[in-house]
Amino acid sequence: MATIIIHSNTLNFEQSKTLERKFGKLTAINNHFRVETENQPERSVLNELSQTLELDINVLPDNFDSKKVKLVISDMDSTLISIECVDEIADFINVKPQVSAITEAAMRGELNFEESLTERVALLKGLDTSALQHVYDERLTLNPGAETWIEGLKEQDIKFALVSGGFTFFTQRLQDRLGIDFTRANTLEKAEHKLTGKVVGDIVGAQAKADFLIELCQQMEILMSQTIAVGDGANDLMMMKEAGLSVAYHAKPAVQEQADTAINYRGLDAILDFVV
Ligand SMILES: [Mg+2]
Repeated sequence: MATIIIHSNTLNFEQSKTLERKFGKLTAINNHFRVETENQPERSVLNELSQTLELDINVLPDNFDSKKVKLVISDMDSTLISIECVDEIADFINVKPQVSAITEAAMRGELNFEESLTERVALLKGLDTSALQHVYDERLTLNPGAETWIEGLKEQDIKFALVSGGFTFFTQRLQDRLGIDFTRANTLEKAEHKLTGKVVGDIVGAQAKADFLIELCQQMEILMSQTIAVGDGANDLMMMKEAGLSVAYHAKPAVQEQADTAINYRGLDAILDFVV
């Protein structure tokens, strides 16, 4: 048996006909449709169907029970929010093209994340720290459905953790604004209102993200299978592999290939379809 999830609350004639012909009768549940099938459909078949119908279509992994989820962990940059904070900070010291080229390559998995962050942060040396507040106030926007997603999880008593290879300046503000349960990120070192070009302590990279998830599971006394991890970049993959369900959110190709599920059309609120 396999559970297929179609992340949409309305289907046009062509969409519903095509899906029913392929999988059988669809059932409407809250904001989406589900169908139980005898055989696990091929991932490539779902991907093709998804692109043809312009719908997010996913299949739940066998060992994942959507009713038992207790924790969702999410990446920040380009997942919860629409920007890469480090690229925007770099704009205030006129090194955005250099920094965003490194960010892109790191997110595609072509560079070691920790080294790439050290390199990018070094380029910010000497910048007035007021730039961080400017980025937060003027450039940081939540991705579509972010608030509905987090509210929906709270209603079901599911905890939410925000983990980022970006910076605590932003995770802390988002934590207060959205009522997020747990956060972890890198702290930019400052001296006399200027960035020093270094981060304080160890870098939160791919392994640290996975470790944070494991640590939270131990703290909450829950199983890894009761978690969902969401991300878009290569540095999210270790954390995503540990979770009960991984979601590639408008993600890089390498991340989509390795994740259990992908959201490419809908906003973040579609992730609530996994916890019904
Ligand atoms: Mg990201």
